Amino acid sequence: MHSAPGTLPWDSLLDTEAAVALTRELVRLRTVNSEGAEAVEEPAAALVAALFTRFGWEHTVTEVAPGRPNVVAVVDGGGGPGPTLMFEGHTDVVTEGDPADWSVDPYGAEIRDGRMYGRGTADMKSGVAAMIHGVRALQLAGPFPGRVVLGVLADEEGMMLGAKAFAASPLAREVDGVIVCEPEGYEVCTSARGGIRLRLDLTGAMAHGAMPQEGRSPIAAGARIVEALGTVQRWAAARYGTHPHAGTVTVTPTVLLGGDPDQLNVIPAHGVVGVDVRTIPGTDHAELTGRIRTAAQEVAGVFGVEVELTVVDDRPAIELAEDHPVVRGLVAAHTRVHGRAPAFGAVPGTTDGTILTRDAGLPTVVYGPGGKWIAHQVDEFVAVREIGEYARVYADAAHHFLTGGAPVEGATA
Ligand SMILES: [Zn+2]
Repeated sequence: MHSAPGTLPWDSLLDTEAAVALTRELVRLRTVNSEGAEAVEEPAAALVAALFTRFGWEHTVTEVAPGRPNVVAVVDGGGGPGPTLMFEGHTDVVTEGDPADWSVDPYGAEIRDGRMYGRGTADMKSGVAAMIHGVRALQLAGPFPGRVVLGVLADEEGMMLGAKAFAASPLAREVDGVIVCEPEGYEVCTSARGGIRLRLDLTGAMAHGAMPQEGRSPIAAGARIVEALGTVQRWAAARYGTHPHAGTVTVTPTVLLGGDPDQLNVIPAHGVVGVDVRTIPGTDHAELTGRIRTAAQEVAGVFGVEVELTVVDDRPAIELAEDHPVVRGLVAAHTRVHGRAPAFGAVPGTTDGTILTRDAGLPTVVYGPGGKWIAHQVDEFVAVREIGEYARVYADAAHHFLTGGAPVEGATA
């Protein structure tokens, strides 16, 4: 049986050492995504493209911004017609912050006690390496039906320009399922929380601190808005309920600005409240945003302060059925490699998968090496053994998906 532990033909063909080495090489390239940065992913993309060339994989390198390429390979199985499975990863990383806060070189990819340390080890250069070498092992094991697309995309940590560009490309319309290789700590994440970033601009009237009755204070209004957001959060929890994996809607103030620390006797005219909203599948974003606008206007109105709400970004919560073929393939593969079924979970934030689902309607599931909570922290790491484990699962999951779960020739119990 496919789900029984044992050896499959591609297991012995997997070059685990090469997958670990590729992870290290990628981590040593400092591909930090920051506002307005140029040529962030270029060196990582060049490394991946060179490997694809060496494997003889047809691929494209497409800039989505100056020096910021997507690398996309199409690996035909040579086994006749079949579905198209995509593996997806990104090559950008977030900043290391202050290197002094790290106990290792953030870009050293040092291996210590079975862990590789560095920015991007978990999020998500190990995932990129595992998917590439997993697919390579599958290919070396012989022909398979259909084909595999490997999307190594840019700018996930920013505005997701890479995913947006891929979703708009003709190839996206031919993809039947996507495995996003982000770190989720062995969970098969069939859902991901949505996100809305809101900016509330408050306009009152400037006045002397000794004569507050002459002003209209955005400071007082902002404080009341922060309180009101808590009320909206409780309303949303009641209205949209609790999702088994994604939890409840959260409405979190992240910015409260107004006034000047050097002008303590002045009531300012302007203020800003920033809000980070996280949603669960089934949340009506327009309704929730409207509720926040109304609540803010009501409490600010008491102070004669006007509120202008801007939606800076809006990404839906997504969910894929647990019996979708791409999920079933992953579950079967994980069960074989680990000897027990995986847990289902939700991605706490959004991934490129959110964009691929939103913009191209692609069924996406997230599953990849590294702990769920280690991303973006200091001393980020991945357990080295996970790189090979995930590569095996990816190869097996691809075979399962592309063949519809057919028995594997050459499998031993
Ligand atoms: Zn990531």
